[in-house]
Amino acid sequence: MKISQIEHIGIAVESIEKVLPYFENVLGLKCYKTEVVEDQKVKTAFLKVGEVKLELLEPTSPESTIAAYLEKRGQGMHHMAFRIEDGVANAIAEADAAGIRLIDKAPRKGADSMNIAFLHPKSTVGILTELCEPQA
Ligand code: ZN
Repeated sequence: MKISQIEHIGIAVESIEKVLPYFENVLGLKCYKTEVVEDQKVKTAFLKVGEVKLELLEPTSPESTIAAYLEKRGQGMHHMAFRIEDGVANAIAEADAAGIRLIDKAPRKGADSMNIAFLHPKSTVGILTELCEPQA
């Protein structure tokens, strides 16, 4: 697979509204978008740090995987996302062939107009890893 950059870093938070003042007023970053991703049961907020984004993730339901994460570990870094230049489907196939445990066997729609797929942290040095590409 061909990775061009870290696309974003996902951060699990209890409440976007409560943590935004830290990111905006202390760090001086600007939130440029919020979006609810229904099938993942999360509300997201995006801030840019140069070419890299921060993706704040707030659960919209107790069944959200983010809710489970917060319950277990509290707020903090949740995942790292790489921008794939030669196709997420291709990257999944390569990871699968290399014996990496997949969370998604095919690309699906993520936030901020991206196609995404996750690799399991048990196979990726403990880091929940997202592969993403802009939707065509
Ligand atoms: Zn993400």
